[in-house]
Amino acid sequence: MQFYSTNNNGLRVSFKEAVFNSLPADRGLYMPERIPQLDPYFIQNLQQYSLQEIAFTVAKSLLGEDIPEADLHAIIRDAMDFEAPVKPLDSGTAVLELFHGPSLAFKDFGARFMSRIMAYLSGEEKSVLDVLVATSGDTGGAVALGFLGVLGTRVTILYPKGKVSPVQELQLTTNGQNIRSIEVDGTFDDCQSLVKEAFNDEDLRKKLRLTSANSINIARLIPQTFYYFNAYAQLLSQGIKEVVFSVPSGNFGNIGAGLMAYKMGLPVKRFIAATNVNDTVPRFLESGNYEPRPSVQTLANAMDVGNPSNWVRIMDLFDHDVAGLRKVISAYTYNDSETQIAIQTIFNRYGYVACPHTAIAWLAAETYRQQHPGAYATVFLSTAHPCKFPEVFPPEIAAKIIIPEQVKTLKGRRKEVMELPVDFAAFKSHLLKYP
Ligand SMILES: *Cc1c(COP(=O)(O)O)cnc(C)c1O
Repeated sequence: MQFYSTNNNGLRVSFKEAVFNSLPADRGLYMPERIPQLDPYFIQNLQQYSLQEIAFTVAKSLLGEDIPEADLHAIIRDAMDFEAPVKPLDSGTAVLELFHGPSLAFKDFGARFMSRIMAYLSGEEKSVLDVLVATSGDTGGAVALGFLGVLGTRVTILYPKGKVSPVQELQLTTNGQNIRSIEVDGTFDDCQSLVKEAFNDEDLRKKLRLTSANSINIARLIPQTFYYFNAYAQLLSQGIKEVVFSVPSGNFGNIGAGLMAYKMGLPVKRFIAATNVNDTVPRFLESGNYEPRPSVQTLANAMDVGNPSNWVRIMDLFDHDVAGLRKVISAYTYNDSETQIAIQTIFNRYGYVACPHTAIAWLAAETYRQQHPGAYATVFLSTAHPCKFPEVFPPEIAAKIIIPEQVKTLKGRRKEVMELPVDFAAFKSHLLKYP
């Protein structure tokens, strides 16, 4: 399969190039040159297959020419080693839990798959692959734990000092091995500019084999399609055939993967894009004008994105046909106080603790159901475990959060982090000093 740039349909690169470049030089995003159609018989019988079997078939349809079957099998067995259960809450509503991986967020699907793909594609390469990533929290944890112990790779994470949650900080700073973290005395944007500057520095590029674990990497998008098929498989075995997915959205990678699954043949009645007050896409679907705005800080901070980078991929999937998009996607926006009330309501009604991102997806699902009564199931995606955001919950709900093993093992570990000012020269010399 070859990949084109959303800014230049004539450009074609190999999968390997798309993975290691992350971004084409024209600042577009890579997309597969064609969307493969899965065998309808396979889709109608999805309930017979495990997550790993489904992931293999879906991945093979995209990457079958690039990676031999046995290798692809091994990559998927290793990367997709946790479940994504669909849990019914009432007769019409279920939650798809995507937080059972090592960093307790759905980003584990993308990060684990990408790390193994990168190690695999590095093949005979002698030099170590240096992965740089700037994070405001969730991405860094998923990337760190995704690459932890992956041979031939080492990861440098930059995060803004004092601006990540305690669990996130432990995930970023207690790994050792091939992971190191830098606490930057600045903002997330400062971290991102340092990383960008590193990629533009010719001297560094000569000395190190640099790559980015950015969320727009195509190797992160592909594995996110797997759990939509797997969710549908679980619904089929519960006797449900019609489904609406509600997806808490920030950069629109998660819902973009769902829409890709749809274009590959997965029958989905509708997708709901659920956002916080960073509502560029809901406004676009309403007005037809794409008008990004600077991001606003909210309780669901992993979705604080004013100009969602994956939106261009979705536009391409729909041939820029806004009317066509509106037939498949609805969008709803909620502010922080609505999010807090939703957390309380979900708890009162189901005894379920939802993280703020998840609560927004539930609210949107609920609103849609009320506006469109019918016999379908709404499945809202739970993108992170609530223990990652302890400050959001009132004490009686916080007390009900069951701390997972992944977090228990972090407690008491030694934090190892380098503190740096926003200074490229200091960052560069640190990169070159890696033992
Ligand atoms: C990253 C993230 C999101 C947003 O996902 P996108 O793919 O950027 O739309 C939602 N919830 C959580 C918990 C996240 O970490």
